[in-house]
Amino acid sequence: MDWPAMVWIGGAPGAGKSTIARDLARRGDLPLHPIDLWTYAHLDRMPAPEPLEVQLARGPASATDSFVRIARLRVELVVADVRARSLGEVPALVEGPQLFPSMAGAVPAAVWLAPDAEQTRRARQQRLNRTPDPAGRARLEALLGRDAVLAERIRQEARDHGRTVVEVPADPVWPDVVRAVEDALGAAPRLAPGTELRRQRQYENLAACRQGRLWQADIGLAELPHFPFACECGTAGCAAVWEGTPDEYDRVGTLIAH
Ligand SMILES: [Zn+2]
Repeated sequence: MDWPAMVWIGGAPGAGKSTIARDLARRGDLPLHPIDLWTYAHLDRMPAPEPLEVQLARGPASATDSFVRIARLRVELVVADVRARSLGEVPALVEGPQLFPSMAGAVPAAVWLAPDAEQTRRARQQRLNRTPDPAGRARLEALLGRDAVLAERIRQEARDHGRTVVEVPADPVWPDVVRAVEDALGAAPRLAPGTELRRQRQYENLAACRQGRLWQADIGLAELPHFPFACECGTAGCAAVWEGTPDEYDRVGTLIAH
C-alpha cells in the first residue's frame, strides 16, 4: 500500500484518545483525522456489518475478532480519506480504536493507549449520561467485556511489533498521559498558519457536523450533545474550542473561539 503521511493514536475505547488527539493536533498544527467522524461515510463503502448485538452475543473474544476484521477494512478507507485531503508532507493525526499495531507497518510515528477497565467504564458511562441512548445502555456490560479483550489484544500486538503502549490507569494524571503520547510521536511538519490551517480546521468541523447529523437521524436523538469545534482563526498553535451543535456552528460563519 502507498501510505500518505500519517501519525497514529490507536487504543481501546475509553482511553481518552479523542481528547488527546484534538489537543495535540491543535497545538502542533496537524490535520486531525478522527476515524469516528467518518463512521457513516464508510457504511456505503463496506460490506454490511453484522449488527453489534449479534457480535456481542457470541462473547467478548469473538466480538473482538469481528471488530478487528471490520477495522482492517476501515483502515484502507482511512488511507484513501487522508490521501483525498492532499496534505503533502504534513502528516494527518489519525485517531481511532480501529488502528492496531499489526496494521501500522509503514506508519513510523504511532502510539496506543491501553486503559484500565475502570477508566473505560467511567468513560462509557459519561458518554451515555450525555445522550439518551437506551440501546447503548442495554449493551454496556457486553461492550465493556469486549473492550477489555481489545485492550489486551493491543498490548499483545504492541509487544509483538515493537510498538509503544501508554497505560491509562483508573485515576489517570492526564498531563502525564499526554506527555507520554507526545514523546512517543515526536515532532512533525506543521500546516502553514493562515489560509491552509484555517481550511483544514473548517474541513474537520464540517466532518463533525456531517457525522453528528447522521448519528442524530440514525438513533433518533431530539438534540445533539455539544461538540468541541476547532477555532478557525488560522493562528499557529491555537487550541481554542467552541462548544455547540452543528446548527449553531452553521450560524457562526468563520468560527473564532476567542
Ligand atoms: Zn484561534
